[in-house]
Amino acid sequence: MVQTVYPFGGDAAHVDTRQRDKTITGGKGANLAEMASIGLPVPPGFTITTEECVSYLQHGAEFSDALREAVAGAVGHIEASVGKKFGHAGDPLLVSVRSGARVSMPGMMDTVLNLGLNDQTVEGLSATSGDERFAWDSYRRFIQMYSDVVLGLDHGLFEEALEIAKEDNGFYADTELSAEDWKALVTEFKGIVQTEWGKPFPQDVNEQLWGAIRAVFDSWDSDRAKVYRRLNDIPGDWGTAVNVQAMVFGNMGDTSATGVAFTRDPATGERAYYGEYLINAQGEDVVAGIRTPQYLTKAAREAAGAKPLSMEEAMPEAYGELARVFDLLEKHYKDMQDIEFTVERGKLWMLQTRSGKRTAKAALKMAVDMEADGLITREEAVRRVDPMALDQLLHPTLDPDAERNVLGAGLPASPGAAAGKIVLDADTAEQWVERGEKVILVRVETSPEDIHGMHAAQGILTARGGMTSHAAVVARGMGRPCVSGASGVSIDLKTRTLKIGYQDLNEGDEITLDGANGQIMLGIVPTVEPELAGDFGTLMEWADALRRMKVRTNAETPDDCKMARQFGAEGIGLCRTEHMFFDASRIKAVRQMILAEEEAGRSSALEVLLPEQRADFTAIFEVMAGLPCTIRLLDPPLHEFLPTQDSEFEELADTTGLGVDHLKRRAGELHEFNPMLGHRGCRLGITFPEIYEMQARAIFEAACDVKTASGEAPIPEIMVPLVATQKELAILKALIDETAQKVFAEKGTSVEYLVGTMIELPRAALMAGEIAEEGAFFSFGTNDLTQTTLGVSRDDSAKFLAPYVEKGIFARDPFVSLDVEGVGQLVELAAQRGRATRPDIKLGICGEHGGDPASIAFCEKVGLDYVSASPYRVPIARLAAAQAALK
Ligand code: ADP
Ligand code: MG
Ligand code: MG
Repeated sequence: MVQTVYPFGGDAAHVDTRQRDKTITGGKGANLAEMASIGLPVPPGFTITTEECVSYLQHGAEFSDALREAVAGAVGHIEASVGKKFGHAGDPLLVSVRSGARVSMPGMMDTVLNLGLNDQTVEGLSATSGDERFAWDSYRRFIQMYSDVVLGLDHGLFEEALEIAKEDNGFYADTELSAEDWKALVTEFKGIVQTEWGKPFPQDVNEQLWGAIRAVFDSWDSDRAKVYRRLNDIPGDWGTAVNVQAMVFGNMGDTSATGVAFTRDPATGERAYYGEYLINAQGEDVVAGIRTPQYLTKAAREAAGAKPLSMEEAMPEAYGELARVFDLLEKHYKDMQDIEFTVERGKLWMLQTRSGKRTAKAALKMAVDMEADGLITREEAVRRVDPMALDQLLHPTLDPDAERNVLGAGLPASPGAAAGKIVLDADTAEQWVERGEKVILVRVETSPEDIHGMHAAQGILTARGGMTSHAAVVARGMGRPCVSGASGVSIDLKTRTLKIGYQDLNEGDEITLDGANGQIMLGIVPTVEPELAGDFGTLMEWADALRRMKVRTNAETPDDCKMARQFGAEGIGLCRTEHMFFDASRIKAVRQMILAEEEAGRSSALEVLLPEQRADFTAIFEVMAGLPCTIRLLDPPLHEFLPTQDSEFEELADTTGLGVDHLKRRAGELHEFNPMLGHRGCRLGITFPEIYEMQARAIFEAACDVKTASGEAPIPEIMVPLVATQKELAILKALIDETAQKVFAEKGTSVEYLVGTMIELPRAALMAGEIAEEGAFFSFGTNDLTQTTLGVSRDDSAKFLAPYVEKGIFARDPFVSLDVEGVGQLVELAAQRGRATRPDIKLGICGEHGGDPASIAFCEKVGLDYVSASPYRVPIARLAAAQAALK
């Protein structure tokens, strides 16, 4: 029989591998057991496995007898460890019931604290603690939480009753309420339950316990959880574990407290303890934004200019113990930890630890620092940084010299600059973004229901909540800039207006957030390019030393090439020449070339284009300074260049001397039913060789000129697109070689060059062995190869791909992440057949997939020589290639 329930803490036996396994006991449960096993103070408890959740959901929401028995036994373990009895009127054991999936998942059931209280046990708690106020405060908290998360009653009703009680008494804070006040409120709360639920609040502690366990299991299939899973690629069949744990109390007066902390600063990565705590408080009071939390360390309090004492100052002993635990945890897990703790009458208890979410900047700094400390190896440091997270660093930050009309400020909860239109709720954010707007989500505070809006927004601004509030934690995880706890922000949802400082604003007005210092500015503030030295440079250097594949870029302007080189590109993997044709000064000649009926007409237009193209290539070769440059000859269907407006036809008629009607007829002839599969790619070169000849000439002339001028010879790799047969490539290669010879003779110098092809048709992949006889390199054009293999048009796929991904037909969008199983086979096969013919054939990938870490891992496996990505993705590809090589 597999074990369904695992005890931890207290006098639990040693922790076995199943209990350590997050897939079985969930992240929270596995780490609680781990902490207890290394001697840290963890209140005793037990974990019900994720397997039980899955089986419960599969078996019509029924608990098995085995589970009931195991839970009863495990409750006994807690009772024995703490010396109290669950449901005992004189000395009751209270527990918390906590969900805990494999990965931390907002959307799951909220924790229920103080479970086990009823009209009798509250008296017992009052007597044993000697603190009547505390006992009744705990009871009202329990009724409030249980009614909300287990019974599903509207929590607003309870909050309202509490507010009214405070107002009637002229109280400001919860801490001002006396035992009698809480007692009265408990009576009122029970009345609310009776009215709303139709039954009295459950007094049987076992009914309470099983109700809470059921609620945790059920929450796995809640809408909130499903949305989160979809956004984060989390499978629906993992299930969640349930943790039941003896309560420790942070609300037992001024020597008690509760808090959350990170062992390093999660925003910057600095080696400074970082966190917040509240004296005489319980559970999520810290993150709920009801009271303003206090700083953990004296240094942080002073830096913020805050008055209320830090934990370091107010509770030096418990703080000292906490600092010792921080160090132990970091050494044990070899990573920055995000922890939750409670101090009960001066004694520290650990309630949670996990690897902390961090910004990209912090991830880099911590990886580099921990390597320096010998905590982790260089390989581990490289492995630890999520390549996609680098994206946060590669994007612009606010220009320090730009003028800022600062309206107010909050906490710098998640770094980066964000600008956009104010939206006041998550649904609006999503709708506006769908219609192409950039938005900033402004909320009093966020909750898991807002996730989709936070995802859609450029940045998030909240009026309440600290650095560890929901908004802050989620924003950092998503890499969204966030300013939280900006108390100068007041929102009126009825009129859809708000005030920031003294400024009145409407939904739709533009603001800018600076997540680095918490400022909120009116309008859009300009940005500057990112800094690529420091920890970023160090980690990239390590990655470069570990990777095998080269990383090139997809770029066609000298500016993009320069940027890509700054990002570390080692060549151009794809230079699309057609982009150069759209230039305003050339499009006329291009149109004339296309619409000419005679070769003569075409040639005169090509005469005009030749020097322009030569100048393009010269500029690119100069920037790339001797690095290989793959240049693709004209690829798209010609009609893409055609005039559409009457005025454009008239203008063209003027320059060519041909009639408008004639031109329109000719344009009509170029219409295609299915241009993606039409007259494009090398088919253009076969039918209009003059075009490819002109392009080849421009490339060779530019290369010779740059070689002569700079002494550094460019290495052009001329790439023929959309080849299906060896013959196509043979004909075009002959044309290119012939052109090269002519130019070399004219210039009196020569350069090395290669002629190769894209593999983007299934036939080309199959015939790669023959095609390699002509081509010196293959570049996998996986955008087209995906279209042609799947028979899916990328431009038309939006309508059905999302539902396909939702239904699990594709794990991910195959245009974003390579369909390794299907399209991947063609890549692998073409690579093998190509190499069999030509062992030194150069192999690379130039589709969108060249910047996707999962696809890059596949390229490493197949042994490609390089990947090519858009400039901003180059660092991502460098790191992903290193991680792939380490696998
Ligand atoms: P989440 O996953 O939302 O963080 P947790 O299960 O960690 O939920 O519970 C939230 C908070 O409740 C904890 O940070 C802690 O402050 C409090 N809590 C949970 N269990 C206990 C307990 N046994 N004793 C005291 N406080 C607890
Ligand atoms: Mg929670
Ligand atoms: Mg927690």
